Amino acid sequence: DQAPRIPFSDGRAIPQLGLGVWRTPDDVAVTAVAAALEAGYRHVDTAAVYENERGVGEGLRRAGLPRGDVFVTTKLWNEDQGYDSTLRAFDKSLERLGLDHVDLYLIHWASPWRGLFVDTWRAFIRLREEGRVTSIGVSNFEAEHLDRLIEETGVAPVINQIELHPRFQQRALREANAARGIVTESWSPLGQGQLLADPVVARVAAKHGKTPAQTIIRWHIDNGLVVIPKSVTPSRIVENAAVFDFRLDEDDMRALAGLDSRDGRIGSNPMTAT
Ligand code: NAD
Repeated sequence: DQAPRIPFSDGRAIPQLGLGVWRTPDDVAVTAVAAALEAGYRHVDTAAVYENERGVGEGLRRAGLPRGDVFVTTKLWNEDQGYDSTLRAFDKSLERLGLDHVDLYLIHWASPWRGLFVDTWRAFIRLREEGRVTSIGVSNFEAEHLDRLIEETGVAPVINQIELHPRFQQRALREANAARGIVTESWSPLGQGQLLADPVVARVAAKHGKTPAQTIIRWHIDNGLVVIPKSVTPSRIVENAAVFDFRLDEDDMRALAGLDSRDGRIGSNPMTAT
């Protein structure tokens, strides 16, 4: 089964499930991306800093699907923020991917100390106007950063990709995104694998005859989040996409809601990240 699509404020839409490819070298990215597309995924999430855009591009070509059937996201690395440097960095990403456009381009981190994310955003708007990026969004932005973009350019991101999993549920930022018409996308949706041994997850999973990974991915889907679990193992890639034949009920949602923790963050804090 293929994932449903979540609408963007710009009239476009994103497949709700995608493949994440962080910490995946080029050669492994080729086979992981090809396996995912074979398994029905239609969305891949990479970034310049992952140093695997070439492998992702090769995997896309190997799968041989029409370009319009696959949704490709990449991200601008922090050191390339700024108007001209963004345009240059984007050219290089596109060249490495071997594509003539990407479906979604994200500012990887606000990196507030640089004071450059608004200039960067102006370059993103230009890339969208030129048709080389279909939709533009951000990652790791807090509400105050979203507001600066909107106030200074009048253009809101379509999506904010943030750390989000049952141990770090980000209720306030999800509401802030929604209030601004911004879709929320979950990175490290499985808590980098740390959540897979959780006993509450195991109990809900057993009830549905599903695996812990499937149960957590379904939690994201049932919360209306875009979700990009990572695996390079073909059997797990298939497993992680087999989530459209069940749904969590109110008891399950209540049990998983209880896993939220004030110190559940695994990755960097967007206010201080480089
Ligand atoms: P994740 O939460 O997706 O966990 C991935 C790990 O979980 C795998 O390496 C594997 O060890 C395990 N796993 C996956 N499926 C499994 C299964 N079915 N059974 C058992 N174990 C399984 O971690 P992630 O890679 O950090 O996050 C997913 C994606 O989010 C990344 O690949 C990347 O695309 C994106 N991301 C973005 C940012 C950002 O700053 N924007 C940061 C981190 C990650």
